Amino acid sequence: MAKVMAVNAGSSSLKYKLYEMPEEKVLCSGNVERIGHEDGIFGIKFGDQSIKETLPIYDHAKGVELVLEALIKYGIVKSLDEIECVGHRVVQGGKYFSHSAEFDEKNAAIIESLTPLDPLHAPAHITGWKAFKAALPNVPAIAVFDTAYHQTMEPEDYLYPIPYEMSEKYDCRRYGAHGTSHNYLADTAIAHYFGGKAEGTRILSCHIGSGASLCAIKDGKCVATTMGLTPLGGVMMGTRTGDLDPSVMDYLCTCTGKNVDEMYDIFNKKSGLLGVSGISNDTRDIEDAALKGNERAILTSKLFARRVADFIGQYYVRLGKIDLMIFSAGIGENSAYFREMILKDVEEALGLKIDYELNAKIRGKEAVISKDGSAIKVIILPTDEEVMIARDCMKRIENGSI
Ligand code: ADP
Repeated sequence: MAKVMAVNAGSSSLKYKLYEMPEEKVLCSGNVERIGHEDGIFGIKFGDQSIKETLPIYDHAKGVELVLEALIKYGIVKSLDEIECVGHRVVQGGKYFSHSAEFDEKNAAIIESLTPLDPLHAPAHITGWKAFKAALPNVPAIAVFDTAYHQTMEPEDYLYPIPYEMSEKYDCRRYGAHGTSHNYLADTAIAHYFGGKAEGTRILSCHIGSGASLCAIKDGKCVATTMGLTPLGGVMMGTRTGDLDPSVMDYLCTCTGKNVDEMYDIFNKKSGLLGVSGISNDTRDIEDAALKGNERAILTSKLFARRVADFIGQYYVRLGKIDLMIFSAGIGENSAYFREMILKDVEEALGLKIDYELNAKIRGKEAVISKDGSAIKVIILPTDEEVMIARDCMKRIENGSI
C-alpha cells in the first residue's frame, strides 16, 4: 500500500487528489483557487465532508502548505512521510517525453525550456513542482505529460507542410494534448470491451470538454490526434477556434488593426462556442438558447457538431475502420444534445444505429448507446486523468525507479 498525490498546478490554481494505491481509493481531493489573491480559496473534500475557506493565498507555496496542513488536521494522514510520490500533470513534453518521467532538476530544465510551446502552463507546472519539493524534500516527484501518449504518431501524421528545416530547427509540429485522458479511455475501453487485448482494436476517442480533442487509436496506441502544436488546434472548443486557414490571422489583423498577440488571444479566449454564439462557452447555455429557438445558438451547435463530425470521418479513413467510438469529458459525458447532433452527422456514412432515447438519459456514467447491428459500438465513458497519474506513480514505486 502507498499513498500518492496527483497534482495539477495551473497559473492561479492547484488541484490535488490523494490516493491509496494500488486500490485507487481517493482519500481526499480539492482545489486551491485564486492563488496570488487576498481572497484565495482553499477547498478539500474527504469522506462526506466538503470544506471551503477564503483566505489570502499569495503564492503556490502557501497553497501547498494549506493542503499538507489539512491532511494532518483532518486525520487523512498521520504523518506526511506516508506520501510516497507526487505526480504532476504537465501539459507539454515536446519531443522529449514519450512516457512519464522523474520530475528532477534535469527534467525540470527541459520542461521549462518548452515554455515557448506552452507559455500558459509550463511556468505554473514548475512553480507547483518547486512548492511541493520545498515542502516535501524527500518525496520523489514524477511528471506525467499530456503529450506523451501522442508520441507514437508517425511523421506523416505529426508534421506540418512547412519548410522541413523549420520543423526541425524549431520543433514545430503536432504534439496533441489530452493524452493522459485518451490513454485512460483506451485502456479502460480495451479492458471492458475487448477482454484486455489491445492488438487489432481500432478506437476513436472523443474527449469533448471546454477543451476538446479526438484521438485515433490503433492497437492501443495513438496514430492521430486533432490538437496541434498547441491545444488551440483541431475541433472547435468552448472559447478556442480549433483549426483555421492560417490566412485568417493575417486577414483579421489587417481588417481590425489588432496585432498578432491580440488576435491570438481572441482565437484562444473569445472564439469557439462563446465567439460564434455570443452567449456562452458552456454547452448548457447554448443548448437552452437553441431549444428556445435562438438562431445563433442553433448555428453554433451545428457548427460545433460539424467540426467534430469532419474529424470522425477523417479518422475513420485513417484507422481503416472503427470498432468503438468513445464520448468523454464535460460535454461528451453530459450533453445528450451535442452527442446526438454529432452522431446524426455521421450515422449514415458510418452505418451507426444509435439508441437516442437511451442517449438522452445518460449523464456522467458509462453506457453503450449504440444498438445491436450498429457498424460501430458507441459508448459514453467518464475520463479520469488523475488516476492515470497515480498509476504512473505506483508503477515507479513498484519497479523501484524512484
Ligand atoms: P475542461 O476542459 O475544463 O476539463 P470539462 O471536461 O470539465 O472541461 O468540460 C466543461 C464543459 O462541459 C462545460 O463548459 C460545459 O460546456 C460542458 N458540461 C459540463 N457539464 C455539463 C452538463 N451537465 N450538461 C451539458 N454540458 C455540460
